[in-house]
Amino acid sequence: MKNICEWKNCKEFGKFKAPAEKDNSKKFKLLCDQHIKLFNKSWNYFEGMSDNEITNFLKSDITWHRPTQKFGSPDNFFSILWNNALNDKFKIFKDEKNKNINKVKLCKKDKDAFNIMELNFNADYMAVQRKFKILVKKFHPDRHAGNKVYEDKLKKITMAYSHLKMIMVQK
Ligand SMILES: [Zn+2]
Repeated sequence: MKNICEWKNCKEFGKFKAPAEKDNSKKFKLLCDQHIKLFNKSWNYFEGMSDNEITNFLKSDITWHRPTQKFGSPDNFFSILWNNALNDKFKIFKDEKNKNINKVKLCKKDKDAFNIMELNFNADYMAVQRKFKILVKKFHPDRHAGNKVYEDKLKKITMAYSHLKMIMVQK
């Protein structure tokens, strides 16, 4: 039996997993290839979460410490987020015109995000993507288990990346 895409009114074959909850519960919905693209593009994971909630989320047992749910496990929530981001395996941005952000319009949050990722304000999406890949490898929790400094650093980087991704794909 084939799974049907869970997007409203869609009848296509749902073959891609998308996280359904913001709580690491490992609940998924299945989406077709068109709708997983839309989902990944518009998904600002951290929106509406307080700083504390984000910290707790990032340090939750499932994500970081439980041996049966290693960080690199394919069902781990962050693995999904980062694999989607790092590989861009659905080529979400392939057909996009490279949208350089208008520097005049940068707000403080935008600038902070560029600074955290050690990028110039005129970096394009590909540069952000490349840099994120490098930084995640550098601060990956599998390499620095339990090190608070690295956890905090990775948290900041992930949020900065999340933010830049959003402002770069907004229409
Ligand atoms: Zn669909």
